[in-house]
Amino acid sequence: MTITMKNNWDVIIAGGGPAGFFAAIRCAELNPKLNVLIIEKASQTLGKVIISGGGRCNVTHACFEPAQLITYYPRGGNELRGAFSRFQPQDTVKWFESRGAKLKTEADGRMFPVTDDSNTIAECLRESARKAGVKVEPRTSLLGVEKGQRGGFKIEVWKDAKVLHLQTKKLLLATGSDRKTLEILKSLGHSIVDPVPSLFTFNIKDKRIDGLAGVSVEKVTVEMDSITQRGPLLITHWGMSGPAVLRLSAWGARELFEKKYRATLTVNWLDDYSFDKALDILQRNKDWKDNVRKKVATNPAFSQIPLNLWKQLVQFVGEKNWGDVSKAELRRLANELTAGGFEVQGKGQFKEEFVTCGGVNLKEVDFKTMQSRVVEDLFFAGEVLDIDGITGGFNFQSSWTTGWLAGNILCKQ
Ligand SMILES: Cc1cc2nc3c(=O)[nH]c(=O)nc-3n(C[C@H](O)[C@H](O)[C@H](O)COP(=O)(O)OP(=O)(O)OC[C@H]3O[C@@H](n4cnc5c(N)ncnc54)[C@H](O)[C@@H]3O)c2cc1C
Repeated sequence: MTITMKNNWDVIIAGGGPAGFFAAIRCAELNPKLNVLIIEKASQTLGKVIISGGGRCNVTHACFEPAQLITYYPRGGNELRGAFSRFQPQDTVKWFESRGAKLKTEADGRMFPVTDDSNTIAECLRESARKAGVKVEPRTSLLGVEKGQRGGFKIEVWKDAKVLHLQTKKLLLATGSDRKTLEILKSLGHSIVDPVPSLFTFNIKDKRIDGLAGVSVEKVTVEMDSITQRGPLLITHWGMSGPAVLRLSAWGARELFEKKYRATLTVNWLDDYSFDKALDILQRNKDWKDNVRKKVATNPAFSQIPLNLWKQLVQFVGEKNWGDVSKAELRRLANELTAGGFEVQGKGQFKEEFVTCGGVNLKEVDFKTMQSRVVEDLFFAGEVLDIDGITGGFNFQSSWTTGWLAGNILCKQ
């Protein structure tokens, strides 16, 4: 069936991504009598699912406690608290497993299909939609939305180089960070938080990390404008990445955007060691008799810092032996190791996952139903909302949860 043949729908879902599919499947499974249509502007649905997690799709995270789960969302955590008590990662796991897509958990909590292939997830969603009788129209873009005089909506779409008009009783917008949709929403009276990127790497040109691409430190603390994160740090060709940096980028996404991605990053290469603790260990190294004639550069005081990084961090000491290092130099070393300042000069791309913060103002959405508080019979799910999580499967989880909640109500006509 093509949409040129049918113009009246019970439910239209704009956006064939994870949020749109989850809502459509839930709605159609609960009420098989309804005509449910997904319109998708791309030639294939679920594009991001396919490329996600480096082609493996990090479906969710093994965090099954809603109160803890919300701490992984720089924006939207509070609003998702109740939503996660209704549908959380455990439910996601059951949902996919009951349809033959088994998930596994990695050491850091990220959950992937056992096949390590994102197509498993995309196919599972497509098959579930097909079985539930959801109609899917690719190459169909939402152009405009008008409230109908007797309820419902008239919507304008672009398909096969033509403008078509459709009618629907209920409309769900799950178009991700699409700017056109956000403009449509403004025209309907919604307020929009400006979208800006989240989850990115830092461009840093600094001789202390020059030539060290690929070197990582297991536990560091990074700080920027009173936002602090702990975790692994990876030095890249362009600067710094790794979980600690990515989390910092997510929490500081808006501030960094406003500063045009220029800021000072403070790195404690010794995780949570204080200046005094580091100084004490450095002093012991200097005083230790076996060390007196050994070079600082080739005899690190801390095993957690890889030798090639240590050499570059202590470069200012030159060729000196431990025994010849002055008190002032020891203090400078302690400072370099626990509070090294690095100038961030821009943002890079984290290829495994990227998201946008900003979108529909959460105050204007009822999180029990995902229904608009501004426009009757209008619903939202996924990244179109001002919600974003840190990397690790949290972004898909908010799409599954909000899609599922919306589906529960969309089915009631
Ligand atoms: C490279 C990459 C890797 C990622 N990896 C992960 C991961 O492993 N784990 C994780 O949790 N998150 C990951 N994410 C984030 C995750 O993909 C998103 O958070 C998630 O896809 C959001 O789902 P959504 O359905 O809201 O939006 P989208 O997935 O963006 O889907 C929206 C759909 O709407 C369509 N659309 C847009 N405008 C219109 C319109 N006007 N008319 C009709 N259709 C329209 C789009 O073409 C798209 O198909 C990744 C993101 C990227 C970019």
